[in-house]
Amino acid sequence: ADIERFEARMAELSPPEQVQERFKDEVQKLQVLEQGSPEYGVTRNYLDWLTQVPWGIHSEDHFDLAEARRILDRDHDGLDDVKSRIIEFLAEGTFKGEVSGSILLLVGPPGVGKTSIGRSVADALGRDFYRFSVGGMRDEAEIKGHRRTYIGAMPGKFVQALKDTGVSNPVIMLDEIDKIGASYQGDPASALLETLDPEQNREFLDHYLDVRMDLSKVLFVCTANQLDTIPRPLLDRMDVIRLSGYIAEEKVAIAKHHLLPRLLKRAGLKKKQLNITDAALKQVIDGYAREAGVRNLEKHLHKIIRKGIVKLLEGPDTPIKVGVADLATYLGQPIFRKEKSLKGTGVVTGLAWTAMGGATLSIEASRIHSSQRGFKLTGQLGDVMRESAEIAYSYVSSNLKRFKGDQTFFDKSFVHLHVPEGATPKDGPSAGVTMATALLSIARKEAPQHNIAMTGELTLTGQVLPVGGIREKVIAARRQRISNLILPEANRGDYEELPDYLKEGLSVNFAKHYNDVFQVCF
Ligand code: ATP
Ligand code: MG
Repeated sequence: ADIERFEARMAELSPPEQVQERFKDEVQKLQVLEQGSPEYGVTRNYLDWLTQVPWGIHSEDHFDLAEARRILDRDHDGLDDVKSRIIEFLAEGTFKGEVSGSILLLVGPPGVGKTSIGRSVADALGRDFYRFSVGGMRDEAEIKGHRRTYIGAMPGKFVQALKDTGVSNPVIMLDEIDKIGASYQGDPASALLETLDPEQNREFLDHYLDVRMDLSKVLFVCTANQLDTIPRPLLDRMDVIRLSGYIAEEKVAIAKHHLLPRLLKRAGLKKKQLNITDAALKQVIDGYAREAGVRNLEKHLHKIIRKGIVKLLEGPDTPIKVGVADLATYLGQPIFRKEKSLKGTGVVTGLAWTAMGGATLSIEASRIHSSQRGFKLTGQLGDVMRESAEIAYSYVSSNLKRFKGDQTFFDKSFVHLHVPEGATPKDGPSAGVTMATALLSIARKEAPQHNIAMTGELTLTGQVLPVGGIREKVIAARRQRISNLILPEANRGDYEELPDYLKEGLSVNFAKHYNDVFQVCF
């Protein structure tokens, strides 16, 4: 009975010759084996897998750019540049007649829509979608399968993907490619490289199936939070598309058009039964969900809806309206306070860029005592950041005359420099100018201009060098309603390239040398 089932399946497929031969061999083997023996089970399992790979079955791609644009717009607000990149990518595919051979990498902080964009790409092409996470994968066998001699051997994820989707050309999304482990069981990263590489994956060999399989028609879409930890050879083969996070206005639109309707529908509520005012929505974003993505926002909206349902059930049957004043009862006290614009001597706002997106970071300097000279640093700083603190200290203490500070200040001061949110490790050189400004502020005993945020690497001679993540940093500043920025002169191009809605209302000073920063701050 087993054999008939396998043969029936095989008849529906058009497997390559090698597979047909292997199939015959294994069927013969099964015929002579005693039913119920362990070997019988192993062989039957093998045949079961072999006949479930969709050999020769492909779905046909839709190449309709207008339709693709419609799908992308239907599922996502904002993200104009990302959508254009996707359309360009599909246009190229239309021209060639196929999209395979490229690997897309969507990179950005959590909850900004990477998975969702990937799904839309599959939708637009009319392809099946399969997703799995490679984050923390430590065993090459998860990618390439176990050899059949293993007890409980299984094929790898790619064979499973084809089996589940039933086509040889699905869109396969590999999540968290930046977190792939270097391991003790082979090297998953190099196995992955081999699998994704269009030159090699035509002949992909899963250890379990042990026959060549063509993965070259699969469209691979990877996602990551950052690029730094992705193995270089892998990164070189990918088309990188950045998603950098949302400003408050975009989040309002996303909440109204996507998150709320979906949550209400899931809860079985009608739109008119529960209404959140625009002002309340803004306050949820400002007070409770300030991160780059929208996942936290979604959670808070969910919470409001849950509590709203209780009210609907307990109270009179009147529609619920949630206004700003009601938020505390639904969500508790806001996590983020209203514009407490940081001011004071020794306090300066810097702009940072991490895997979580852009963030503002207030750096504090304080004189602890005057009996000896010295300097200490806290806040989970990486080596590069410690070095830039030392550079800032040296630069400021040797240039006090020029900046009209008390010239003997550092000779009789023990100074403490702190970068708050001590629980998050941080690194990178881009806080150089911020730390220098904090130190200068205490030496001058004068608070710097407040409502300014800055970023830039500082050298020992006071040059200001370019830094990464300008877009993310600008978005972070906007989220905190900071409208004055100091950026390195060498990043002027990066800033100017930004879309107008991000630049609107900002006043930016570009600094070549620390002198320029000084002019703005004091
Ligand atoms: P992670 O890195 O954590 O996997 P992600 O970038 O893959 O995050 P998604 O899961 O795609 O994030 O998005 C989180 C939620 O926010 C989803 O419900 C998604 O539909 C929604 N979302 C994100 N961006 C947008 C957008 N621009 N328009 C509409 N909905 C969005
Ligand atoms: Mg995701």
